Amino acid sequence: MASGTADGETIQQTRRAVAALCARFPGEYWRRLDRERAYPSAFVEAMTEGGFLGVLIPEAYGGSGQGLTLAANILEEVHAQGCNAAALHAQMYTMGTLLRHGSKAQKEKWLPKIASGEMRLQAFGVTEPTAGTDTTSIRTFAERRGDSYVVNGQKVWTSRAEHSDLMILLARTTPKEKVEGLSVFLVDMKKALGKGLTIKPIRTMLNHATTEIFLNDLEIPADSLIGEEGKGFRYILDGMNAERILIAAECIGDAVWFIKTASAYAKERVVFGRPIGANQGVQFPIARAYAEAEAAKLMVYRAAELFDRGEPCGPEANMAKLLASEASWKAADTCLQTHGGFGFAEEYDVERKFRETRLYQVAPISTNLILSYLGEHVLGMPRSY
Ligand SMILES: Cc1cc2nc3c(=O)[nH]c(=O)nc-3n(C[C@H](O)[C@H](O)[C@H](O)COP(=O)(O)OP(=O)(O)OC[C@H]3O[C@@H](n4cnc5c(N)ncnc54)[C@H](O)[C@@H]3O)c2cc1C
Repeated sequence: MASGTADGETIQQTRRAVAALCARFPGEYWRRLDRERAYPSAFVEAMTEGGFLGVLIPEAYGGSGQGLTLAANILEEVHAQGCNAAALHAQMYTMGTLLRHGSKAQKEKWLPKIASGEMRLQAFGVTEPTAGTDTTSIRTFAERRGDSYVVNGQKVWTSRAEHSDLMILLARTTPKEKVEGLSVFLVDMKKALGKGLTIKPIRTMLNHATTEIFLNDLEIPADSLIGEEGKGFRYILDGMNAERILIAAECIGDAVWFIKTASAYAKERVVFGRPIGANQGVQFPIARAYAEAEAAKLMVYRAAELFDRGEPCGPEANMAKLLASEASWKAADTCLQTHGGFGFAEEYDVERKFRETRLYQVAPISTNLILSYLGEHVLGMPRSY
């Protein structure tokens, strides 16, 4: 992706602006949403108005034409401030499929509206109940009929579907079970809803607005196809490095929040007449979590730098996601342990963030699949599955 490279001062200014915005959305805001399983609309609107969601969209289409490094800094800061970017991050990486492979007409039609916030491109329909991680065995089928495609199938874990105007949908266009048989579509969800598209929310251990969607004879215009028919899997793979780097940045933000929160509590909580942080058994795990998060952060920004230079970054993007998701989980566990019983109390936000950060070892790609990628593609060992 062509991108501008933000300098250190721009990055720091942007982070300060994100932090100021996040201060308007404190713990009570997220706790209420979590209790009600509600969508953070006000936060998403504020982030869009602030121009933060359009950083990767080229200036010609109304964005600020920046690179992944700046985008990663934005998402890291959101999480470091105790907020959560899950309601908005998909727009940053799914937009890349449209930007890289969409036609001029598609880009002119949709990108300015996405950049301005008039339309949300937050839904990404890839995973299916029977295929799981094995994306090439998806069954949702799009059949060309004249000027339309007729889509039948089912997706699961399609997050934000109820709050998005548009969805990037991966479907099979040839019956053969081969990688080349998949295609990508940009679906206007508001038009499709009730006319072949049904959305059913899934209640999960975290507030993630995730759903399953059912596609029954859904007719979409033929020009919904992005790029060429049959190349969809490659297009999706192209965007996965960006997705992994951005999610890894969120994990680093979570780790920063957990470490900051744990060390503050360890300094102020007095038991046996002294702060609990004076005990090595409390202090050292926090220090270790800090070291691990700092090391993972180096990999995240190394991957982002390579991505912005247009250089191959598959191993780094995958390692960034692996190390950052494990560092955030270690920090989360340490923070909870540091708080003792209070770690379980809603008002401290620790248990909420703990539930939120656990997701990243499973989605968007699970740890085992990253390890198998490294084992096979980087280290040349036999394919393990
Ligand atoms: C809250 C949430 C939001 C999500 N949002 C989206 C979304 O917006 N869009 C979307 O398309 N998807 C989304 N997903 C789906 C997510 O990407 C998948 O859950 C994830 O890729 C794992 O797939 P699966 O759940 O089918 O697990 P499975 O593929 O069934 O795997 C189950 C377990 O087995 C392990 N495993 C499987 N195969 C192997 C192997 N060969 N070797 C070793 N271990 C293996 C996996 O690592 C995993 O731990 C979301 C998921 C969740 C939970």
